[in-house]
Amino acid sequence: MFKKILIANRGEIALRIQRACREMGIQSVVVYSEADRDAKYVRLADEAVCIGPAPSAQSYLHMPAIISAAEVTDAEAIHPGYGFLSENADFAERVESSGFTFIGPTPESIRTMGDKVSAKQAMIKSGVPCVPGSEGALPEDPKEIIRTARAVGYPVIIKAAGGGGGRGMRVVHTEAALIHAVQTTRAEAGAAFGNPAVYMEKFLEHPRHIEIQVLADQHKNAVWLGERDCSMQRRHQKIIEEAPAPGIPRRLIEKVGERCAAACKKIGYRGAGTFEFLFENGEFYFIEMNTRVQVEHPVTEMTSGIDIVQMQIRVAAGEKLPFTQRQIELRGHAIEVRLNAEDPVKFIPSPGRITTWHAPGGPGVRVDSHIYTNYFVPPNYDSMIGKIIVHGDTREQALARMRTALSETVIEGINTNIPLHRELMVDAKFIEGGTDIHYLEHWMAARKR
Ligand code: ADP
Repeated sequence: MFKKILIANRGEIALRIQRACREMGIQSVVVYSEADRDAKYVRLADEAVCIGPAPSAQSYLHMPAIISAAEVTDAEAIHPGYGFLSENADFAERVESSGFTFIGPTPESIRTMGDKVSAKQAMIKSGVPCVPGSEGALPEDPKEIIRTARAVGYPVIIKAAGGGGGRGMRVVHTEAALIHAVQTTRAEAGAAFGNPAVYMEKFLEHPRHIEIQVLADQHKNAVWLGERDCSMQRRHQKIIEEAPAPGIPRRLIEKVGERCAAACKKIGYRGAGTFEFLFENGEFYFIEMNTRVQVEHPVTEMTSGIDIVQMQIRVAAGEKLPFTQRQIELRGHAIEVRLNAEDPVKFIPSPGRITTWHAPGGPGVRVDSHIYTNYFVPPNYDSMIGKIIVHGDTREQALARMRTALSETVIEGINTNIPLHRELMVDAKFIEGGTDIHYLEHWMAARKR
């Protein structure tokens, strides 16, 4: 096992990884930007290295600074967390060629999955169900594009092969709008992702977002740890996640879960990963794979009892998965809400000093957050400041626990989306379960009137 790991991230996930290290008796090195100098997890780390000024490009995305920090501290491995460099194949390659272990999949896996066209092709080959659409990237020839769209059937969605974070997508309802939409998406994708390739999919009108968590080791073992329902989204950003997904027959989930584990073996995947699907009319359609730990991993940890971050570290160190699929037992129901420093109605970011922080507690309540009273939320990064996760025997109990937890939580000094979560936890449709990915946006539009 590693003696020392460098954490190449910030905020709640840096603290989460630090906790995993501590439990395993591994020393942690935290890198930080000048904006994060005072964060508690920075002070709690065994070692901390300032890697640059606040802007991410000069700190958390600056590969040479991170690699030198690992060199001067004699770390053996680098955990990238999520976001930043976590899905950057070049970074993974540089980490390994500098003599460190990258806690994640191989650069080749990251590269294949990072390009949505090649990811989809790999999935089709591995027997994972995909959204019907173009075979690979769209060609230049407009006639060919029109033919493809007719075959797929309108509405269609044009997506950038290099897209991410809900950007680089355009829905097309009519043939008249098709070519212009393809050209615009191409131009945007070229500018934003450095890759103008786009592809076409059938646009599903009322899908749910269901994803499968997998773990794989370097000895050809792979398991899946159940699903998560992440359909509560605003602008393609998840805000509430839960496990299991309400109302989906277990046999359907098991079938797709087994396919995902089999695909991991087939593509030689290692580490933690997530297969994201849209689910509509009883069918799963693969949309993309995330080759890293996800924000919402705690709901799976709560239902499976498995520490996903520790597993990432173990398999990166070459260990075998300590369980087989049969030994995995999923229990109860877990829900996570993301706490964002933002206006709960207008969603304007609200950085600044937290004057009061009172965390919820009690049975089945977990808080993953790096904030504290007097913590200054820097304006330079994502607005997420933590997560509340609850677990109960049933979904009803989990919902009740979340309502209690949210009623106890106090954050003063900045605006947060806690009022939004409080409202959603008593919303009849959400309580019923099984809302689609558009539900939250419609709900918000109705609330405004
Ligand atoms: P990103 O990497 O940007 O998150 P995804 O491919 O995961 O891109 O898609 C993000 C979101 O866009 C999905 O969660 C869904 O809301 C919507 N979306 C993507 N593909 C389709 C599709 N074929 N039909 C309907 N909605 C889609």
